[in-house]
Amino acid sequence: MAEKRDYYEVLGVSKDADDAALKKAYRQLAKKYHPDTNPGDKEAEAKFKEASEAYAVLSDPQKRQQYDQFGHAAFEGGGAGGGAGFEFNMDDITSMFGDIFGFGGGFGGFGGGSSRRNGPTRGATLRTSIRITFEESVTGTTKEIDITYKDECGKCHGTGAKEGTSPVSCPKCKGTGRVVMTQQTIFGMSQVQTTCPDCNGKGKIIKEKCPDCYGTGYVNTKKRIAIDIPAGIDDGQSIKIAGKGDPGTNGGPRGDLLVEVRVAANPKFQRSDYDVFSEVPISFATAALGGEIKIDTIDGAVMYDVKPGTQSHTKVRLRGKGFPTIRNKQVRGDHYITLVVTVPEKMNEAQKEALRAFDAAMGGSQVNEGKKRKGLFK
Ligand SMILES: [Zn+2]
Ligand SMILES: [Zn+2]
Repeated sequence: MAEKRDYYEVLGVSKDADDAALKKAYRQLAKKYHPDTNPGDKEAEAKFKEASEAYAVLSDPQKRQQYDQFGHAAFEGGGAGGGAGFEFNMDDITSMFGDIFGFGGGFGGFGGGSSRRNGPTRGATLRTSIRITFEESVTGTTKEIDITYKDECGKCHGTGAKEGTSPVSCPKCKGTGRVVMTQQTIFGMSQVQTTCPDCNGKGKIIKEKCPDCYGTGYVNTKKRIAIDIPAGIDDGQSIKIAGKGDPGTNGGPRGDLLVEVRVAANPKFQRSDYDVFSEVPISFATAALGGEIKIDTIDGAVMYDVKPGTQSHTKVRLRGKGFPTIRNKQVRGDHYITLVVTVPEKMNEAQKEALRAFDAAMGGSQVNEGKKRKGLFK
């Protein structure tokens, strides 16, 4: 068995790290290596377990003290510390997660941690995404999406047992769904409480499976559901539809459906929070003389009065012309305009002549003269 790394080293904290520092370090590692974010990655899983183990020990004052005194030997059977026989399983990690991230259990995808005992368990969150146009994100919209939804099997009413039979209590775990096994683990030989392999933690065994659902109790059906997308939604935000996720087990409630909304980009407008940003080109003459111009906003075109003598890259705020806020459609962000004075790239002879006459009337290269005085030109 490979040499174990020092727990403080694993978490990247100092020996005198306080609870907050430990929690912060573990939270970062757990996020990075969580099996849900690295499906099938054995190395990440090992790192996740290593960090979880380190945190489980160091966050417990008594265990930390033992570890500080005796090192890893403290938790090896009959070790120098008179080892308290350290039991650790994926449920511990899951409940630790609940404490740290503020949600209880229910992780799919690793080590049976999600099927806790055989009590009611909430179903997994179902995820999907939907694309909408930029315009739809302004006004809000309703979209229909097709999801694969696990419906209760009509034949066995969710029991998974063949008609006329019913599930029986699992003899291996006596209906508890958990068994205690002695096995080689990351802790050396230890007693590990684990999900019953015969019934997968359900506590019940189906002798004759329902032919319609192959004993699962559920059948996949395509379901079309309507999703209300509020005005002001931003790219990457998700809408939660309660109770439309996977079914729970042992009478637990269904999980939720999370719909991630992808908003198409608009070449004219940039968005930040609820504010909109855009550039509006204006001619030199309009900038110098002032005048009315048309400005595109997310509501459509509006007229705007350019003040005489406006410099290029002047910023203007159009109050309340940004996105509606999700909580209250009446409250809106602002639209920030950058007025960009454009210089003509091609001119005919008459235009050039007019411009030269203009320049002469303005006193020649007065702009450069001005800059010379400020020391900008050498
Ligand atoms: Zn069935
Ligand atoms: Zn069992």
